Amino acid sequence: MSNFRKGLWLHHLGPFQTPDAVRAMVNRVREWGFDLLIPCVKLYDGWCDYHSRVGIVRPGWEEFDPLLVLAEEANALGLEVHPWSCVFVESLNPEGSALMQAHPEARAVKLTDRGPEPQGWACPSHQAARDYNVAICEEILENYPVQGMHLDYIRNGGFQIPEGCQCEVCRAAFREMTGAELTSEAFPGISQAAQNYVPLTRWRAAQVTEVVRRVHEAAAARGKVVSAAVFSNFPIAYFDQGQDWVTWAHQGIVDYLFPMTYIALPEVVGWWTECYVAIVKGTAPVWPGLCYFRDCLSVETMTEQIAAAKQAGADGVVIFEYTGMSDELARALQTF
Ligand SMILES: [Zn+2]
Repeated sequence: MSNFRKGLWLHHLGPFQTPDAVRAMVNRVREWGFDLLIPCVKLYDGWCDYHSRVGIVRPGWEEFDPLLVLAEEANALGLEVHPWSCVFVESLNPEGSALMQAHPEARAVKLTDRGPEPQGWACPSHQAARDYNVAICEEILENYPVQGMHLDYIRNGGFQIPEGCQCEVCRAAFREMTGAELTSEAFPGISQAAQNYVPLTRWRAAQVTEVVRRVHEAAAARGKVVSAAVFSNFPIAYFDQGQDWVTWAHQGIVDYLFPMTYIALPEVVGWWTECYVAIVKGTAPVWPGLCYFRDCLSVETMTEQIAAAKQAGADGVVIFEYTGMSDELARALQTF
C-alpha cells in the first residue's frame, strides 16, 4: 500500500441536485482511488453551498444539505473530506454575501482619479472580514463529520502593489506605522525596495495569518486539520498577496499545503516541488495541486507530472478538478 496520497478538488456542488446524485459522485471519487475530496462550499461569489447559519445559503438547497450527504457518504466509504472555503474573495454583487451586506466597509478599495473603486474582495484588515470567515469554518468543523477544513483565496486580493488596498483601515494603519499616506508616493524609487514596503507587507500578511491561526485552533480543538491551496510562487505570494504559507507551516498552523502547480511541463512541477519541500523543511506535508482537464492535457503528461512531484519529495498530489477527471487518469494515479 503506497503512502502517496491523492486528493481531488470539486469546484461546485451545483450539478448534484439530489442526495442520490451527491452519493453517486462521492462513490465515483472513491472508485477512482482518491483519499481526500475537497468540495467547495463557499464559492468566490460569496454564496454558501451548505446549510449555513453564518452565510447565505444558495437557492436550490432547501430540500437537503449537500455537504451533510456528501460527508456521511464519504465517511461510509473511508474517503476523507475537507470542505473548501474561498476565504477573502467576494463578488462585487453582494447578493450572496452576508459579510458584504452587513459590512460593506470591509470591501477592498482602490483609490483612483475617479474616486474609490470597490474590488471583488473583502479586505483582511477588517475585523469583521476575519471574524466572518473564521465563523464559516467553525460552523463547518463543528456541525459536519469532516476531517478538516480547506482554505483557498486565503490572501489579499483586488489591488496593485505597492500601496495595495486603500480602505479606511489600511490607510489608518499605514499612517500609524509610517506617518505617511498610503499612496504610490510613499514608495519612492523602485517601489518594492522602498522602506515603507517593509512594515506594510508584514502587517498585511499578519491579518491573513491570523485567520489561518484561528481556523487551525478551531480545527485542532475538534481533532481536525487545516489544508490550504497556496500559490506556487512563494515568496512572491508573501509580498504580493500577504500569503505567508511557509511561516504557517513553520508555526504549525497549517497541516497540509497544496501549492497550485498549474503548468503543463512535468519538469517544472518537479523543480517547483523541490522548492516547496526545501523551504517547508518537513513542517507540513506537501501535495502539489495539478491541473487536469481531460480535453486539455494527455494522461501521459499528467503521469510524468505526478512522477516528477513524487520524485521531488511530494507526499501526494491534488487534482484540479472533478469535472475534468477521466477514468484513464484515475487508472494512472492508482499506479503511484
Ligand atoms: Zn484594506
